[in-house]
Amino acid sequence: MKVNRIFCIGKNYADHVAELAHLGHKPDGECVVFMKPASAVVPLGDVIDLPKGHGGVHHEAELVVMLTGGGRDIALEDALDSVAGVTLGLDLTLRDLQTELKNKGKPWEISKSFDGSAPLGDFKPFLEQDLQALEFTLHVNGELRQHGLTREMLYPVAQQIRILSQFWSLEPGDVIYTGTPKGVAELKPGDHCLLASPSLGRFEWTCA
Ligand code: ZN
Repeated sequence: MKVNRIFCIGKNYADHVAELAHLGHKPDGECVVFMKPASAVVPLGDVIDLPKGHGGVHHEAELVVMLTGGGRDIALEDALDSVAGVTLGLDLTLRDLQTELKNKGKPWEISKSFDGSAPLGDFKPFLEQDLQALEFTLHVNGELRQHGLTREMLYPVAQQIRILSQFWSLEPGDVIYTGTPKGVAELKPGDHCLLASPSLGRFEWTCA
């Protein structure tokens, strides 16, 4: 299935919310919803072309789900019926720019939704596995940067689907980046990224 829209959930792991607080991003106990265009996707085999001249670009390693659709106002108990596939992805963020825009009270769209901001692995079919019992890691140049346990999500995947469906009629090919655990840090040209999960596989990119 082709990627339709990309929804992203922010502030979904307490340890990441805490590390952002050190950058002056105030925690308020609520998740954030934002979007990226389909042109943000960097498929496997492509190079991550980091934006230049706008400050540091941070990696955010995330579990990503693709939906079969589902429509409007999905009930919590039905939400996972609309999951078609599962993979891992990176939500790339121009962090300095985002911090600056947040501090000015402006929308931080451009810091999150630029072309190439969504490296995305290949989807594995969703076979009713427990999405809240997955583990994933991001290594950069062989060094462990992020280690995610999906049971630590503040808003589990079903709840994310329910929230999104209250504002959008969910369509086939819509994907959700489900938030990042702590460990976000800067990527530089030449860096090698390895996203991996025992049940989802290994996905690699090089940055330019
Ligand atoms: Zn994110």
